[in-house]
Amino acid sequence: MKEMAAGVLLGLIIFLAFIGINVTPLILITLLVGGFYFFYLGQGTVKFDNIGTDIKVGTGITFEHIGGQDSAIKELEEALEFIIKPEAIKKMGIRPLKGVLLVGPPGTGKTLMAKAAASYTGSAFIATSGSEFIEVYAGMGAKRVRQLFNDARKKASKQNSGSAIIFIDELEILGGKRGSHNSHMEYDQTLNQLLVEMDGISFRSEPSILIIGATNRADMLDSALLRPGRFDRHVQVTLPDRVGRRRILDIHAGNKPVEDSSILDEIAASTFGFSGAHLESLTNEAAILALRENAQSISRSHFHEAIDKVILGEKLDKKPSPAEIERVSFHESGHALISELVKPGSVSSLTIIPRGSALGFMRKTAQNDQYLYIREELEGDIMVALAGAAAEEIKYGNYSTGAASDFEQCWKLAMQIVETGLSSLGVVKRTDSPDEVIYKECKEIIGSLEKKTKEILLIHQDSLFSLAETILAEESLDRDRFIELL
Ligand code: ATP
Repeated sequence: MKEMAAGVLLGLIIFLAFIGINVTPLILITLLVGGFYFFYLGQGTVKFDNIGTDIKVGTGITFEHIGGQDSAIKELEEALEFIIKPEAIKKMGIRPLKGVLLVGPPGTGKTLMAKAAASYTGSAFIATSGSEFIEVYAGMGAKRVRQLFNDARKKASKQNSGSAIIFIDELEILGGKRGSHNSHMEYDQTLNQLLVEMDGISFRSEPSILIIGATNRADMLDSALLRPGRFDRHVQVTLPDRVGRRRILDIHAGNKPVEDSSILDEIAASTFGFSGAHLESLTNEAAILALRENAQSISRSHFHEAIDKVILGEKLDKKPSPAEIERVSFHESGHALISELVKPGSVSSLTIIPRGSALGFMRKTAQNDQYLYIREELEGDIMVALAGAAAEEIKYGNYSTGAASDFEQCWKLAMQIVETGLSSLGVVKRTDSPDEVIYKECKEIIGSLEKKTKEILLIHQDSLFSLAETILAEESLDRDRFIELL
């Protein structure tokens, strides 16, 4: 349509110029109107999805493609009943569910769940993100919200579906507390428009629309969004546990030649804290490493290297100086020695090959998922973290900036001891306790553990030195070699 109008206009201008009429004012007016349309009105026009290009309803993703979220999926399925059985719901006089909020850390499968919900209900699916609504031009965010709902309705009717699911990722950007943005009112207007559109959803209107929002900061959302009748169903999407991680590994390794499926059990056990996205990336990296080596299948060592890569980043070509490499050898040997002494069996490997921002690192063996800690365990972790700097000090009489992230970790753990009532302060309320008191307690915990760590390392100084010298020569040690040396 726009193209036709432009063609006709151009033809008209050429014709008028040909018959001798002055066309300068017409050209000026055309440029002015065109500019206004492009720079102002055009700003709000985004296609939220390629409407109508795929006539297939749903997204091709089903709940079977999601691992480790069984209870979240069950809750979501219950919420979707109203789309699947609209007549029964209407008969009972139940008001339609308008919004479901998926709350959880990044990469846990919130987008997958929204897509699977569309397949499950046979709904048209449109996805967007809160950041797409925030515009420097006043009124454009609100316009985009209107357009989003229109696009969803159009897509549903093109696909002959009675329902549409709108997925809004990063909902906190669009739906943050009103009045909290001091720059301009644009955010508030956009949110108001979303509320208006949500209120406009009813049983009578076809297609029925369900909004699925995703956020990892539910505390930032405006209370109007969370009140009954809007996003009143909250589904927690959590980091997967060991069984969940095993299932996710199965899903993503399903099309890959893994040497032995028991490797996946082991990897699931050693990836506590990994999200689904991490695990997907892990299987992919392992396959890439196997391909690089022209291996026929993916082995345990490929997976181990992939874990390091996902946690720390690519191996780096940067070459630290010989003096730095020696220091790193002592640093990592300190970590490993204390780790094995505090928790026997905990060291899996250590290396001084730089990777990501680390010049070396020690990898722990697979542990069972753990959610509760006693003070001794947290202290043990603090000692392991402090041991790198302590080993450097024993060898050189000083330590380097390489220990900065270890200290950060120590501080976090010491704070955890204090805040959870495990310190000598007893039960404290963080907000009511003076900062100096908390600071002093953390300092004391870290100070005494620093002393203890150094004492233990001094007792085992011979082991520390022989370990450091071996790793300096061999660059990496696996557990067997490490035990042999000890
Ligand atoms: P974000 O909050 O950052 O948007 P998200 O929670 O929406 O993240 P997804 O986009 O759904 O996460 O996940 C990213 C990718 O990670 C998926 O495409 C999938 O490959 C993998 N993934 C994440 N969670 C799971 C899971 N539970 N099961 C299987 N794969 C998963």
